[in-house]
Amino acid sequence: VCRRLVGRTAVVTGAGSGIGLATARRLASEGAHVVCADVDAERGAAAAEATGGLYVTADVTDPEQVEALFRTANETYGSVDVAFNNAGISPPDDDSILETGLDAWQRVQHVNLTSVYLCCKAVLPYMREQGRGSIINTASFVAVMGAATSQISYTASKGGVLAMSRELGVQFAREGIRVNALCPGPVNTPLLKELFAKDPERAQRRLVHVPVGRFAEAEEIAAAVAFLASDDASFVNAAEFLVDGGIAGA
Ligand code: NAD
Repeated sequence: VCRRLVGRTAVVTGAGSGIGLATARRLASEGAHVVCADVDAERGAAAAEATGGLYVTADVTDPEQVEALFRTANETYGSVDVAFNNAGISPPDDDSILETGLDAWQRVQHVNLTSVYLCCKAVLPYMREQGRGSIINTASFVAVMGAATSQISYTASKGGVLAMSRELGVQFAREGIRVNALCPGPVNTPLLKELFAKDPERAQRRLVHVPVGRFAEAEEIAAAVAFLASDDASFVNAAEFLVDGGIAGA
């Protein structure tokens, strides 16, 4: 592993599990100071221990907790160079438009989309001040191509993340800030395993669409995030960054 992030500070939300955890580890291994944020204190603290970083409890839907998170990162390490706004949920039950209720819809928009708005709003002032920064927001391949396995509130929330990332990337490029939307295909994480445990047929249906014939491991997504976080990606901005094994709608 190269050491592209020495001296940089990275905030990772949803660092306690899955993609967030693998990315926190990867960024730390590349030399970054990593601030691990999660709503689950036990998991978040374990992630911080694994990365030698700092743990901050933050519910990403709470504006004050989000502000405190980035303030703490800046106060502790003197800058916030990378924000990986990654925390998100998958709807618990059938999320086809005919089944999903308004409450479930709103909860998903809140955790997946409003959270990214809050995190970007909180981190941008630090990055403007520094004159540099890389924001990576976790969307999903479904934002680009939809999901035949019906998850309307999830897909809509990730479409919002994608559009917001593109606009912010365009808006802040001249200030040295890059904003990209990470669009993973299906990844072997607790989120996905839980979903597919309830509905194994759904897993099979989805797998059919992945040309490489398997789901990603979280480390393969983390490698892409480390690239986007680093100066190696200096000309990658406002991108819809698919890391999906060549998926074609699932
Ligand atoms: P995961 O469930 O393994 O981990 C998500 C973490 O986010 C958990 O530690 C959880 O405690 C935390 N979290 C949830 N709500 C939070 C909140 N309100 N505030 C702070 N932390 C909160 O999930 P994952 O599979 O690693 O997914 C990470 C991101 O990647 C999500 O945004 C997800 O939508 C997206 N994604 C996942 C896949 C996949 O196949 N796993 C594919 C595309 C996109």
